Amino acid sequence: MRPLVAEINLEALRDNYRLAKSLAGSRALAVVKANAYGHGAVACAEALSGVADGFAVACIEEALELRAAGVSAPILLLEGVFDADEYTLCAAQNLWCVVQGEPQLAMLEAASIPKPLTVWLKMDSGMHRAGFAPDTYARAYQRLSASGKVADIVKMSHFARADEPAVPMTHAQAELFDSLCRELPGEESLANSAALIAHPATRRAWSRPGIMLYGANPLPAGPWPALRPVMTLKSRVFGVRDIAAGEPLGYGDNFVATRPTRVGLVACGYADGYPRLASTGSPVAVDGVRTRVIGRVSMDMLTVDLTDLPGAGLGSEVELWGNTVSVGEVAQHAGTIAYEVLCNVKRARRVYLG
Ligand SMILES: *Cc1c(COP(=O)(O)O)cnc(C)c1O
Repeated sequence: MRPLVAEINLEALRDNYRLAKSLAGSRALAVVKANAYGHGAVACAEALSGVADGFAVACIEEALELRAAGVSAPILLLEGVFDADEYTLCAAQNLWCVVQGEPQLAMLEAASIPKPLTVWLKMDSGMHRAGFAPDTYARAYQRLSASGKVADIVKMSHFARADEPAVPMTHAQAELFDSLCRELPGEESLANSAALIAHPATRRAWSRPGIMLYGANPLPAGPWPALRPVMTLKSRVFGVRDIAAGEPLGYGDNFVATRPTRVGLVACGYADGYPRLASTGSPVAVDGVRTRVIGRVSMDMLTVDLTDLPGAGLGSEVELWGNTVSVGEVAQHAGTIAYEVLCNVKRARRVYLG
């Protein structure tokens, strides 16, 4: 069997959730959208059942998958709905729903639903992506209240730059939100992972941690020691060869040996989600010792430098990311973020621990 495995440590997931919740000091929705950032949404939600206050997903398809698996905790649709029928399903399946713009609001006003919904009304406090503009927010709130379709309104907004602690924008967004929400009753929600860690003043009744649950630091400063990596992507060396100084390796001209080089061939490629842009120089660990990818990552395999690891060879275990190499480092080598790298994992067998 191909040795590529994404090992998912559910105990670490629960620990990270508890840490997020202790920072929040109140209730926290575990964000499990995009198949729990590549970790498997059903398995992660089941592992957090009885621990998490509820879950957040992007859309109703993701929520229904969790309900079908028996997850009964509250589930919030972060993007809201795409057509009016979905509101009926939300009522039937007890799903909470973001309303983030006029089309969603108008659809809800016109919908016929068997019972009123819990709605999270989103304000655009500066990100300018989704949400009601500040000067239309109170009016949207009043329309929701008067619609007869809503049992509960949670006021929410989202930050554009919470992962940059020195940038004043997060504070400004929170101030604007507070100034417009003061007169409107109900609970509030602002913080994602980065805000929970870097902006304590943004904690409200509900927080929405995502990436930190999976053990990746939402801030650019390397791994955060208190978080435990949840996914270890690992494989094995299934070929070894020596190349002489001056010889090229793999596709293109990405790598030419500058010294006699021992090359390990590893069963993992970009079709598994390992980023092709993280070619020569990206860190990997072989039998627990850090070395580097050399040459271009190809579809099904990549090559690593074993020259300074005389004990390593055929069958050696290779950690693409996990406890020894953080997924954030690999992402950085690919010019992207841990979120994208984790979401892209595919074809690898997922094995759940704990
Ligand atoms: C994805 C998402 C989150 C979680 O963000 P992280 O940075 O992963 O913690 C929170 N809120 C909203 C609205 C989101 O879309």
